[in-house]
Amino acid sequence: MNASQQQSADSPVRVRFCPSPTGNPHVGMLRTALFNWAYARHTSGTLVFRIEDTDAERDSEESYQALLDAMGWLGLDWDEGPEVGGPHGPYRQSERGPIYADVATRLAEAGFTYECFCSPEELAVRREAAKVAGRPQGYDGHCRNLSDAEIADYRAAGRDPVIRFRMPGHDFRWDDLVRGELSFRAEHVPDFVIVRANGQPLYTLVNPVDDALMGITHVLRGEDLLSSTPRQLAMHAALADIGVGSGRTPRFGHLPYVMGEGNRKLSKRDPESSLAMYLERGFLPEGLANYLALLGWSFGDDTEFFSLAQMAERFDIARVNPNPARFDLKKCISINGDWMRVLEVDDFATRMLPFLQRAGLIGDVPTDRQAALVAAIAPLVQERIETLDQAPAMIGFLFQEGAAFTMAEADAVAMVDGSGSALAVAAESLQALSEWNTPAIEAALRTSLVEGLGLKPRKAFGSVRVAVTGRRVSPPLFESMELLGRDESLRRIEAARVRAEAAADG
Ligand code: GLU
Ligand code: ZN
Repeated sequence: MNASQQQSADSPVRVRFCPSPTGNPHVGMLRTALFNWAYARHTSGTLVFRIEDTDAERDSEESYQALLDAMGWLGLDWDEGPEVGGPHGPYRQSERGPIYADVATRLAEAGFTYECFCSPEELAVRREAAKVAGRPQGYDGHCRNLSDAEIADYRAAGRDPVIRFRMPGHDFRWDDLVRGELSFRAEHVPDFVIVRANGQPLYTLVNPVDDALMGITHVLRGEDLLSSTPRQLAMHAALADIGVGSGRTPRFGHLPYVMGEGNRKLSKRDPESSLAMYLERGFLPEGLANYLALLGWSFGDDTEFFSLAQMAERFDIARVNPNPARFDLKKCISINGDWMRVLEVDDFATRMLPFLQRAGLIGDVPTDRQAALVAAIAPLVQERIETLDQAPAMIGFLFQEGAAFTMAEADAVAMVDGSGSALAVAAESLQALSEWNTPAIEAALRTSLVEGLGLKPRKAFGSVRVAVTGRRVSPPLFESMELLGRDESLRRIEAARVRAEAAADG
């Protein structure tokens, strides 16, 4: 492959995201989507979203839908693909069978492929022999030049052939957009199967065929696919020869591996790999997208907090780092927390609501009182949580009335000796208030507990906090009590007092 056959730099950028709909969307896949999106948006190019669903046994409609949802949730739009259509459709490979059959026929007619009748057992035996002899273990070219008579014999014996691509026999080199000059020796890239014996076309055929037909100029994808690149370069040359596509080979860029715990590659099976975990825990799409961007790319200075729009503005493949990226869930959570704090408070409240509903604190339709509580507490929670699933535990006390409210057992230990009498004094001072609001509550408790009993504020308010909110860590206490109301606050203080006295007696 020489440079002049490769995509020239000045034609409009067309990139693609082409996942296979198997399992749940995962971090590696979403990082690839994000980088392609950012490159398309940065260059005012086109993002093609193609679904590689030629493997009927592994692909599912559910995964397909989850992919679309994941893109929508992250805020990544596409210019051609499912739901939006485009001039190169259909964009689901399962609907492109006739196109592949036609290309496969033309490749065969031009001599780029041949029928291979080797059985899996025969291949295994020869691979083993090659291994023993210290030769490369890939396909050995056994069927490259079968005579018509040999082919007839195989057929007569009831063998159905696979179709193999005939590699051109020369080394492959290319200037990788991320990794620079790369090369593969010819003997390490043997002839490969493009169509199964049952006629099913494989990734090795359909991926480059679609890249060619869809005019893809840049292929940005994970490093795990590096070994397929020489095969695809060979295929692009063949496709150009038979007039499929523009005749220009895309440029390739391989995004770095993502490493998980223990310095091994993050696997699809790691919980922090699965998008479902982020949805479950209430990450913000802004936060996750921001963190995914840092897996191999940098803003250019020390900036680590930025929006998708800012990323698109700055995105440059030259700043993709070829070294493995380390996945750091703590950092991801912390960036998510930063995003939590910049949301408009109404927006934050809207996003928190489903988590309160899921926890059973609020019904499908919030009552007026619940809606008012959510609005009032939102600015206080927003400062204190990093993921939305932390909200129910922190503010559940506001939505539980009467018997539904209980102190968290682990926090009830704050009811130490003397808590009972302190709570009794607190209750008395609160009962006397003519107005129930934050400053009045604070003044009453300071006067009665800190000045009156001489308690340290931390200890004095600690028992009240656990009594009222059920936990030692809560939103600001006096505001919380104002929101909860006098009756319910006093009822809880009394219940805690009884409990503290019982503990002291026992
Ligand atoms: N469907 C392939 C995958 O999900 C696409 C690989 C590529 O980007 O070429 O691994
Ligand atoms: Zn063979």
